[in-house]
Amino acid sequence: MQKSLDAPKEALIGGTWRPLERRFPVVSPATLEVVAEVADAGPQEAEEALEEAVRAQRDWARATAYERSGVLRRWFELILRHEEALARLMALEMGKPLKEGRAEVRYAAGFVEWYAEEAKRVHGEIVPSQFPHKRLLVRYEPVGPVYGITPWNFPAAMVTRKVAPALAAGCSFVLKPAEESPLTALYLAWLFLEAGGPPGVFQVLPTSDPVAVSRPFLEDERIRKLTFTGSTEVGLRLYQEAAKTLKRVSLELGGGAPVLVFADADLGRAVEETLRAKFRNAGESCVAANRIFVEAPIAETFAQAYAERAKALRVGDPLSEETDIGPLVNEQALRKVQSHVEDALSRGATLVAGGEATGLFFTPTVLLGVKPDSLLFREETFGPVAPLSVFQGEEEALRYANAFPVGLAAYVFTRDLSRAFRVAEALEYGIVGVNDGVPSTPQAPFGGVKRSGLGREGGRWGLQEYLEVKYISMGL
Ligand code: NAD
Repeated sequence: MQKSLDAPKEALIGGTWRPLERRFPVVSPATLEVVAEVADAGPQEAEEALEEAVRAQRDWARATAYERSGVLRRWFELILRHEEALARLMALEMGKPLKEGRAEVRYAAGFVEWYAEEAKRVHGEIVPSQFPHKRLLVRYEPVGPVYGITPWNFPAAMVTRKVAPALAAGCSFVLKPAEESPLTALYLAWLFLEAGGPPGVFQVLPTSDPVAVSRPFLEDERIRKLTFTGSTEVGLRLYQEAAKTLKRVSLELGGGAPVLVFADADLGRAVEETLRAKFRNAGESCVAANRIFVEAPIAETFAQAYAERAKALRVGDPLSEETDIGPLVNEQALRKVQSHVEDALSRGATLVAGGEATGLFFTPTVLLGVKPDSLLFREETFGPVAPLSVFQGEEEALRYANAFPVGLAAYVFTRDLSRAFRVAEALEYGIVGVNDGVPSTPQAPFGGVKRSGLGREGGRWGLQEYLEVKYISMGL
C-alpha cells in the first residue's frame, strides 16, 4: 500500500495553513497504521477562524455573482483534475475502495459545478402592489457566515454539498470535518485556494475535540447558520444549541432505508439495484438499504440470487482496483455490525452469506427470515449486512416501511406503473428510488423527514438553505 501523503495536514485559518503543536493521528482502517498526524485545532483556533469568517463574509457577499461563480468553476475543474489523489486519500483515511472513491470525487465535483452555474441565477422578484405609488421588491441575500460539520463516510461529497451552495449564495464557511477523515477536506480546501478562493471564505478546522471547537460557533450571534450531517443523536443536540442564537439550521441525519420488492418487479434489476443500495461504501451510507422486504411469491428466488451476488463481491485492500468492499471505519462500527447479526440469529434468522470478520473487514452478509423486532430493523446498521424479510401485499409492505421514526430514503421495485406512483406517494420518506438503487445526484433535492432531518441539499433547494429573503417597499 502506498502511504506517502502529499496533502495538507494543518488547519486552514484565513488563507494560511496554521501548523499546530497539538496533533492527532489519522489511522487507516485497512492496516491500522497511522496515515498522518493532523493539526488538532482547539477553541482558540475556532475563535480566530470565526473572526476571519465574519470579516471575509462582507467582501464575498459584495463580490458579483459572476466572480463567485468563476471561483467555483475553477475549483470544480481542479477537483476533477485531482480525482486520483482524492480517491487515494479516502482509501487511506477511511477505507473507501478506489473505484468508489473516484465515483465520489465526480459526484462531489458535480455539486461545485452545479452551484457555479446556480450562483448566477439567484433572481429577485417584483410583487404587484395595490397602491399605484408603491413598488414591492424581493431580494435574496446570503444568510451570513456558516458553520458546517461533516461525517467521515463521504469525506468529499458531504463537504462540497454544503460548501458549494453556501459560497454560491455569498456566505463564508468554516468546516469541521470528521476526526476520521480530515485529509480529504483539507485537500479540497487547498484546491479552493489554488482556484483563487479568497482568504477566510472557506476555512477548515480539523480537531479531535468537536465539542470544544464547535462551541464558539454555536454561541456566537454572528454565525447565522449551522449545517450538520451525521447521526440523529448528535443532530438533535446541535439543534438545541443552535436554537439559543436562533440560527438557521440544516440537519442531514440518520437513515435506515426500507426496500420493497414486489412480485411484479424485474427480478434481475431488483437484485442488482438492491445490491448497490446495500453494499455501496460497505453499507456505511445514510441512504443504505437497511431493511429489505420481498413479496412472498418471489421471496425465495430473490434471496437465492441476492446471496449469490453478495458472495461474489470482493472484500479487501481499498487501494486495490478489484476491491468492492473495504474495511469498516473503526472497531465500534464493527462491533455494532456484529451485534446486529448476532441479535438477528438469536431471534431465529438464517445466515445465507457472509458473517465473518477479519480485522475491520466484514464479509457481505445476507440473512433470511429476520424478525421485525430485530436490531437490524430497528437501528441503522451502517455495515454490509442485508436483512431479508417477507411481506404479503401492498398494504403490509407500506405498513412495514412506514413503521420507523426515520424518513430519509426508501426504494421500490415494481413494473406496475400505478403501484409505483401509489407506493412512492405513500412512503413517508424524503427520497424514493423507484427501480433505482442510487437516486442521489447534484441537481436533485437530498434530505429526509421525521428523525432524518431538516432541509435539503442539492439542486435549487440546496441554495435556498443559504439565502435570506429581503423585502424592499419603494414608495415613489
Ligand atoms: P456522528 O454524528 O457521530 O459525527 C458526525 C460529525 O459530528 C463528525 O464530524 C463529528 O466529529 C461531529 N460531532 C460529533 N459529536 C459532536 C458534538 N457533540 N458537537 C459537535 N460535533 C460533533 O456521525 P458519524 O458516525 O460520523 O456518521 C454516521 C451518521 O451520519 C449516520 O447516522 C448516517 O446516517 C449519517 N449521515 C447522514 C447523511 C445524510 O445526508 N442524511 C449523510 C451521511 C451520513
